[in-house]
Parts: sequence; C-alpha cells; structure tokens
Amino acid sequence: LPDNASEFDTVIIGAGPAGLATGACLRRAKVAFVILERADSVGSSWRNHYARLHLHTAKRHSSLPYLRFPKEAPQYVPRAQVVAYLEAYRAAFDLPIRTGEEVASVSRDADRWTIRSRAGTYRSRHLVVATGYNRVPCRPTWPGESAFRGRVLHSSAYADGEPFRGQRVLVVGLGNTGGEIAIDLIEHGAVASLSVRSPVWVMPRDLMGASVQETAIALNFLPLPAKDAIGRTVSRLVFGDVSRLGLRKPAEGPMSQIVKRGRIPLIDVGTVALIRTGKVAVEPDVEEFTANGVRFKGGAERPYDAVVLATGFRSGLEAFFEDHTKVLDERGYPKRVDATDVLPGLYFVGFQNVPTGLLREIGIEARSVARAIASSPS
Ligand SMILES: Cc1cc2nc3c(=O)[nH]c(=O)nc-3n(C[C@H](O)[C@H](O)[C@H](O)COP(=O)(O)OP(=O)(O)OC[C@H]3O[C@@H](n4cnc5c(N)ncnc54)[C@H](O)[C@@H]3O)c2cc1C
Repeated sequence: LPDNASEFDTVIIGAGPAGLATGACLRRAKVAFVILERADSVGSSWRNHYARLHLHTAKRHSSLPYLRFPKEAPQYVPRAQVVAYLEAYRAAFDLPIRTGEEVASVSRDADRWTIRSRAGTYRSRHLVVATGYNRVPCRPTWPGESAFRGRVLHSSAYADGEPFRGQRVLVVGLGNTGGEIAIDLIEHGAVASLSVRSPVWVMPRDLMGASVQETAIALNFLPLPAKDAIGRTVSRLVFGDVSRLGLRKPAEGPMSQIVKRGRIPLIDVGTVALIRTGKVAVEPDVEEFTANGVRFKGGAERPYDAVVLATGFRSGLEAFFEDHTKVLDERGYPKRVDATDVLPGLYFVGFQNVPTGLLREIGIEARSVARAIASSPS
C-alpha cells in the first residue's frame, strides 16, 4: 500500500491488544486495512501502567490469536513482557500501523465510513473501534482539594512507590489497581490507607493450583446464578467474613457484577493480608480535602502527604460518534460487538468484560469480527 493511501477496506482505531489481534485476523483473511494509533508505538496502555503490574490471567489464556507468549514467560506475565509480546505480535504479522494518528470523530454516509484524525481523513467500508475499555481516567473532585498541600494524582500517572517513600498516602478506590498500588506503596516504605466507598467482591488469583480464571472458563457453561453461587462460596472459603476487615460484600453475585456492570472483583495479590495485619488501614468514602489531608464521611480527619485516585476509567467512546445513543448503552459501552445492524460496517473489539478474562475475549471477538468483515459482500 502506498504510504499516503487513505482509502481502505477496513480502518482499525487503536494498536493495543484488541486492534493488533483484529489486524492479525484480517491479515490472514487477506483484507486490506490500516491501524490508526494515537501514541508513537503499539501497546501504549501497557507501556504506561504502573511497574509492579502482572497479568492476573494465566498466560495460556491471555495470548492473542496465532501467537503464544514465549515458553519462558511465567504463568502471570509481568507488564514489560506484555509490552515485548505486543511488539513481537506486530512484527510477526507485519501489521500496518500509522502512529501519531489520534482519531477525533467517525461518521457514516451511504456506503463508506469517514474517519477524521488530527493528521488527515480516512475512508473505509468497515470500521473497527479498538480504543480500549479504559481510555479516559475517571477523575472525581472534592471540596477543599485546591487547599490541600499534598500531591493528588490519578492512578494512570502512578509509576511506582519510590517518590512516596516515608510518606502517608491515601489510595482512593479498591479495585484491582487500588489494591495493588497499596501493596506497592508498602513495599516502597510508604504508609498506605485505602478509602473504600462501595461493596466489593474479593477473589483469590489462584485456586487449587490453577488460576481462578481457568476455573471460570471451565464453569462458563453454567447459568449465571450457579456461577454466582460458586463465586460467593469461593470468596467466603478463602477470605472468610470480609466485613471484619471493614469491607462490604455486594448484594449482587460476583459474576453478575462483571457481566451486568463491568465490575471486576478484586483479584487479590496480597492486599487482603495487608489489611488483615493492619498494615493497610481501610477508611470510608472521602467527604472533603483539608489543608493537611482528608475528612472522611462520618467525620474522621486524617493527615496525608499524597492521595492516589484509583477511581477507574471509562471508554470515552461518545466523543467519536455524532449520535452515540444508537450504538452505546447508558454506561457508554457498545451495546453489541457487531453493530452493523445500526450502522453498517461498524464493529467494536475489547469492550465486553467477562469472568473469563478480557484478553481471551479480545481474541474471540477479533476472530469473529474479521470473519464477518471478510465474508461481507463488497
Ligand atoms: C491495570 C490493568 C490490568 C489488566 N490486566 C488484565 C489481565 O491480567 N488479563 C486480562 O485479560 N485483561 C486485563 N486487563 C484488561 C484488558 O485486557 C487490557 O486493558 C487490554 O490492554 C485491553 O486491550 P485494548 O486493545 O482493548 O485496549 P488498550 O490496551 O487500552 O489499547 C487501546 C489503544 O487505542 C489507542 N487509542 C485510544 N484512543 C485513540 C484515538 N482517539 N485514536 C487513535 N488511537 C487511540 C490507545 O493509545 C491504545 O494504544 C487489564 C486492564 C488494566 C487497566
């Protein structure tokens, strides 16, 4: 393809795991495509995650179509090796990626998609949106924040605990990111507390010698209520009554929370033990900031040097579409992977959170989207 071509059968937005996997499958199907990526390299989300991060899904269920993680990679692959794998993946399939191309909007006329990036305009029959479940940080604000003398940062800007050595740090939010950042802070000699607003399910990463993800895959044939019942039992057997630790269990089962709300349980890699032994304090919801720290709901006030907001992300997909309500649900996530019944030629890959692991799901979706594109009449 000429370097300046702007007309393709398919345009993919995003060169993370979902865009790369879809590209590899389209390559095999001999469909002409291009991947537009806003960063200057593939896998930019994984390059920017905090240093301590490992996959919490097993490597054999986390690789993308047609290329496995290397044999020597451990069961739970560390972040840097995920990045290296994504680089190797790009090279193995010789994927055509245009970096520095931030897509601003997409629109559909009678027979084509128009994709506008900061650098130019692309036209295509098919459009695959692979910009990630976690594109835009959710950054709540509180009264008094501007008077706080310490540092406030979102988890997306947290690399490691080194700058916080010896400091008192509050981590707001107990998801997988907040839970692991609390561990990282302790490992770097900080004093860490967690502000936990909502009820949360806690699951072990490993169960009887296998990853809990493998158990979820094996039991995936069961109806949702049965999977919820098993999840509840596993959580209780492994962690006991977490209300003693100041945590509340959601009324809805753990699998329903994933499927219906995209809420992943805390896959514990050591946070619960730190809470149990008193090394990490659990605090309630933040009410407001003070000059020296935070006042919590209920009135308690504590001093902090820094506050890390592990308050999650959203898809930010609304920004691309003129009328997003046709294709996105009220949470801003695609109603369907295959949206061609609403807008012809439109697909999403990587937006369905499942108990069986998102990377595995991305592989499944990439194959089926590529099949649909390759078999659509021209
Ligand atoms: C901390 C963390 C840990 C996770 N651990 C696991 C795990 O252990 N196992 C698992 O199965 N899943 C895990 N996931 C979930 C999921 O697998 C990853 O988020 C994965 O990176 C998703 O791939 P993606 O390609 O959909 O999104 P991303 O990796 O986020 O890639 C999206 C790409 O799109 C680009 N982009 C965004 N907007 C634009 C634009 N406007 N124009 C052009 N390019 C754009 C971005 O720069 C990025 O390169 C984890 C997620 C997080 C956040």
